[in-house]
Amino acid sequence: MICSTPAFVLKAFDFRETSKIVTFFTRDFGKVKGILKGIRRDPRKFSTTLSPLSLNHIVFYRKRNTEIHLVGQCDQMDDFGLQRPDLKSFGFASHISELVDCLMPLEDAHLKVFELIFDFLNTLKNVPVDTRPIFQIKILSLSGFKPHFDSCLACDTKINKEAYFSRSRGGLLCGRCIFQDRNAEAVLQGSIATILYIERSDWNKALRLNMALPIRRQLESILTSFIHYHVGRALKTNRPVNELLDLA
Ligand SMILES: [Zn+2]
Repeated sequence: MICSTPAFVLKAFDFRETSKIVTFFTRDFGKVKGILKGIRRDPRKFSTTLSPLSLNHIVFYRKRNTEIHLVGQCDQMDDFGLQRPDLKSFGFASHISELVDCLMPLEDAHLKVFELIFDFLNTLKNVPVDTRPIFQIKILSLSGFKPHFDSCLACDTKINKEAYFSRSRGGLLCGRCIFQDRNAEAVLQGSIATILYIERSDWNKALRLNMALPIRRQLESILTSFIHYHVGRALKTNRPVNELLDLA
């Protein structure tokens, strides 16, 4: 079957002497892997740079018995300014492409995730602000890993005041159940409210939210642990991205 769709590049690596294997997040088919034959021998064969999160229009031949499909056409439509030498934007985009790759299954269309990547890039194109916490909260929720933040993991009572985040269990414990994880950390009410607010708001409304520094710091730590818990390991881009941001 011949398929044609807009697609963001998540990652690309060299394959044999002349080709590249690329993971895309497409509008119509979700995450798709494809081979671009001959692109290294003759880069003009495809009009694309394959830079992370660039938007391309691709045509591929979808076969049933393989994960890697043959890409016949790949034309870049927008690089969202990510080619400019800006360490921050590059760091944010690398993190987001790895996150989407880790959380999303192969060939399962998800238009809202496609639109979320688009919103993230359009914001980044205008100002290199750090919208990673908003993106993380939204993609966790869209991909079915929604942080369970309205009640206690152990006893399911609604959490009103005391709440503790358990890294090992990936959620909140109440004051009575904290004995279940001695390493659970107290969570600010503001952090819980912020997560719930972002889950319910659209991208632009969530962008306007002014997060106090202690809340932003806590969210970063909670979301990093939460993603670690679901993916089963730390993201490879975590450390290099943080080092890049320190430099910038
Ligand atoms: Zn409890």
